[in-house]
Amino acid sequence: MTLATRNQVWTALPPVQFDEERPLDLDLDPVTERQLVARLFSRDFDDWSEVLSRVGFCANPIRLVGRSETFDTRTGELVRSYGSADEPLGVTFTRCGNRRADKCESCSRLYAADTFQLIRAGIAGGKTVPETVADNPLVFATLTAPSFGPVHGTRPNGGRCRPRRDTGHRCDHGRLTSCMAVHGDDDPTVGQPVCADCYDYASQVVWQWWAPELWRRFTITLRRVLAHHLGTTPARLGEMASLQYAKVAEYQLRGAVHFHALVRLDGPQTPEGFAPAARAVTATVLAALVAQAANAVRVTAPPVHGDDPARVLAFGAQIDTRPVRTSRRTDDPDRSLTPEQVAGYLAKYATKSTGDTEAKDSPHLRRLEATARQLAGRAATVDEDGNAPYGLLGKWAHTLGFRGHFATKSRRYSVTLGQLRRARQRAQARIADANRAGTRIDLRQLEAELLADDADETTVVIGSWTYVGSGWANGGETALAVAAAARAREYAQERAQRRKGQTVGEWER
Ligand SMILES: [Zn+2]
Ligand SMILES: [Zn+2]
Ligand SMILES: [Zn+2]
Repeated sequence: MTLATRNQVWTALPPVQFDEERPLDLDLDPVTERQLVARLFSRDFDDWSEVLSRVGFCANPIRLVGRSETFDTRTGELVRSYGSADEPLGVTFTRCGNRRADKCESCSRLYAADTFQLIRAGIAGGKTVPETVADNPLVFATLTAPSFGPVHGTRPNGGRCRPRRDTGHRCDHGRLTSCMAVHGDDDPTVGQPVCADCYDYASQVVWQWWAPELWRRFTITLRRVLAHHLGTTPARLGEMASLQYAKVAEYQLRGAVHFHALVRLDGPQTPEGFAPAARAVTATVLAALVAQAANAVRVTAPPVHGDDPARVLAFGAQIDTRPVRTSRRTDDPDRSLTPEQVAGYLAKYATKSTGDTEAKDSPHLRRLEATARQLAGRAATVDEDGNAPYGLLGKWAHTLGFRGHFATKSRRYSVTLGQLRRARQRAQARIADANRAGTRIDLRQLEAELLADDADETTVVIGSWTYVGSGWANGGETALAVAAAARAREYAQERAQRRKGQTVGEWER
């Protein structure tokens, strides 16, 4: 790209403030570059860049036409009226809202930020969750898949991959079973099987298929184990305690999902929830009960087809459970995590998918996907009882058999993503109203109101909207949006560095 157009790119998007010291490196094909330049020099560029900034530089916005009117439910008065015709380009653009970073970086970051707030509120309170929740025992648990065959890996303290005294030992396929290498983190062999022919691909796909059921049984088992510990029955456990969860699924390099979960013990369920927990259970005790339950869970998976064995599935042996420390809690200072660490960790994984792992194109992941397709192709459509337990496996081959949600939480864990999204919309409407009226508002004062349930809503929105399409007009516009999103992220990170710990502007995204 010529210097003249680069300067245009740097300066043309006011919200992002490109500058000379940090040039944008756009590696574009000639067609895309022409489209981009045409957009930069277009007459309605200012309108377009305002639209772009309003959707937060979303890479694939939804386009809608229509109008809506907001009425006060008490007086019937028209409070606000809005239509796509009022928009600079005559069309309403809204964010695609995709969770995945490989689909839309901007929306994925917003999703991660909301997930962070949601997770953090469940740990330390805030966002309408009382701060006393921080006194309830909380455990961070990682539940893994078992081994389906040795894979290359990094070892602690620069250890060798798979040392054996008998270094010349070979498997039935003639491959060495030892590996004396010291693999780095970015070594492409990490996560690949030592022998792909020895590796049990079918069992991994079947395990992954039933992983959501393993998790469900884990929660049931944990209730039973906890009830036993408290000297009651699972049916009466609710009189003493309730368990709340937030969990995220993450792919390991070997293509198996991990569950990272927060398990919180609350007191008896009340309409408000979040009651203080039973004194008898500390976070350390809860960590032990979680490990006990995870170790005990078994699911018997039926054969996929006539030649396939039934399998008894379990979590892997590397179950890790540790208490989370909040500012209000000081137990187990050695093995505990801070709320920010945990929330940041879970939020990061919530935006990932198999598509994000660099090993996406590895022979191993391709073979897992192929195995899932083969198994799906051979799966009996219905068994003798009329069930088709693997009927949908083919649909989930691209996720290597995992059909669960990537991020889930129990109802009373914290606020919901929906509440956070509605709050942001309400905040944006208020900002727009205040801008029109020329007044200032302190959004922090309004947090509880913004997060209030719809039940408290005093207005009703009546509208009619039509979907006209998704995405920007062409690759050049998309390239600008993606570049702007990347630059906006850099600036946001710098700003966060400068005013660490402050929450000003949290609702303005
Ligand atoms: Zn988006
Ligand atoms: Zn190795
Ligand atoms: Zn082998």
